[in-house]
Amino acid sequence: MLDEKLQPIFDDVLRRNPGEDEFHQAVREVLDSLGAVVAKHPHYAEDALIERICEPERQIIFRVPWVDDKGQVQINRGFRVQFNSALGPFKGGLRFHPTVYLGTIKFLGFEQTFKNALTGMPIGGGKGGADFDPKGRSSGEIMRFCQSFMTELCRHLGEYTDVPAGDIGVGQREIGYMFGQYKRIANRYESGVLTGKGLAWGGSQVRTEATGYGAVYFVERMLRTRNHNFDGKKVIVSGSGNVAIYTMEKIMELGGKVIACSDSNGYVVDESGIDLALLKEIKEKKRGRVSDYAKARRSSHFVSNGRIWDVPADVAMPSATQNELNGQDARTLVKNRIVAVGEGANMPCTPEAVKIFLDAGVMFGPGKATNAGGVATSALEMQQNASRDSWTFEATEARLATIMHGIHDRCAEMADTYGSPGNYVLGANVAGFIRVAEAMRALGIV
Ligand code: NDP
Repeated sequence: MLDEKLQPIFDDVLRRNPGEDEFHQAVREVLDSLGAVVAKHPHYAEDALIERICEPERQIIFRVPWVDDKGQVQINRGFRVQFNSALGPFKGGLRFHPTVYLGTIKFLGFEQTFKNALTGMPIGGGKGGADFDPKGRSSGEIMRFCQSFMTELCRHLGEYTDVPAGDIGVGQREIGYMFGQYKRIANRYESGVLTGKGLAWGGSQVRTEATGYGAVYFVERMLRTRNHNFDGKKVIVSGSGNVAIYTMEKIMELGGKVIACSDSNGYVVDESGIDLALLKEIKEKKRGRVSDYAKARRSSHFVSNGRIWDVPADVAMPSATQNELNGQDARTLVKNRIVAVGEGANMPCTPEAVKIFLDAGVMFGPGKATNAGGVATSALEMQQNASRDSWTFEATEARLATIMHGIHDRCAEMADTYGSPGNYVLGANVAGFIRVAEAMRALGIV
């Protein structure tokens, strides 16, 4: 049950945003954590502050027409939800996936607001994307789609207004096409308008690796609170995209063994440890599938109809997509004595799964804290762009590590303060909320 001040707010969110299940789920999770805050500090419930936090500042929906390789005109729908700019320009990635609709982008933008606050950096929250499916599309088609998408989106962006980055289906190639189109229309080399750029044209060292590396830094610090570390641990990492690959890389550097990963067609198990060079070759260079990995590596096998979470391991890092790990999966992991779960993706565990982990005493790092290293490094990219400087890999990674340790410690401290030691979900929601709420109170009713 929600606190009596918060229930009507949630009822209103349900009424005003029908059919947007993921958005409801994300709001509910934050409100669940705020009961103790509102009881201790009633002023946070004044002036409709929480209602305002649940309502995006601006939502943009637009047509994206483009011509495919056969000369056919295709139409997609583009979105940008500018959720909250109390702490800085809207900041958050763009997702290209056929399942994208307004509810996806709103849930991601809402989460992003608190995540960005947790980093301690001057960035507000936003998210965008399109229901475009990049799978099987040629480079030319991807470029024409990105150009058309940016032709509309550009009028809503700016280094002091809104600064997108990548997400599912949007990597450095797509950011390049969009930056090229923005530059052409604006007639300005405005590096700070997009992050995730290539190193030769305004990008930052470590941005590619940042979300995965950061997630591992967070989980490692969490493990240490109970005298564990990654050394010798067996780890499952779902997904095989940007976040998953660099999560695996850092786990291996710290002595862990990644024994399974996946894509939307199935998962691969490799008890001798995933060969990351091979996986990168298949995924990053050839844009192939994890089933190709299984064909190329004799110690592994591919499972097309099953759950990656059935593979016994010590640590699980879901790094593909929302709600990919359900209550039944959580029960299996607990039965197999999982020690820790760190969310690399946004909201990959269902609320039931999260409850099962917390009740079983499994260390659990929620995505909005664990995967904040990507956006934090995007903010470092913006700093370098603003000062026309570029930092070394080592210096940037050191900054990332410090930021992730800071996020971990703030979440742990807030969980203690609000009576739930070790509950990083509560800690992250409260720490993020208080920073946004303080800024909103200072800025008046806007
Ligand atoms: P990528 O597009 O690089 O990779 C996504 C991976 O997840 C692919 O292996 C993909 O498989 C799989 N996947 C995507 N959708 C589904 C689905 N519906 N069912 C099963 N598998 C799916 O994306 P990222 O690695 O960048 O993003 C992964 C997660 O991390 C997302 O939740 C994103 O929001 C989050 N995140 C990303 C950040 C970043 O910096 N990139 C920052 C913070 C969070 P397939 O190829 O078969 O579709």
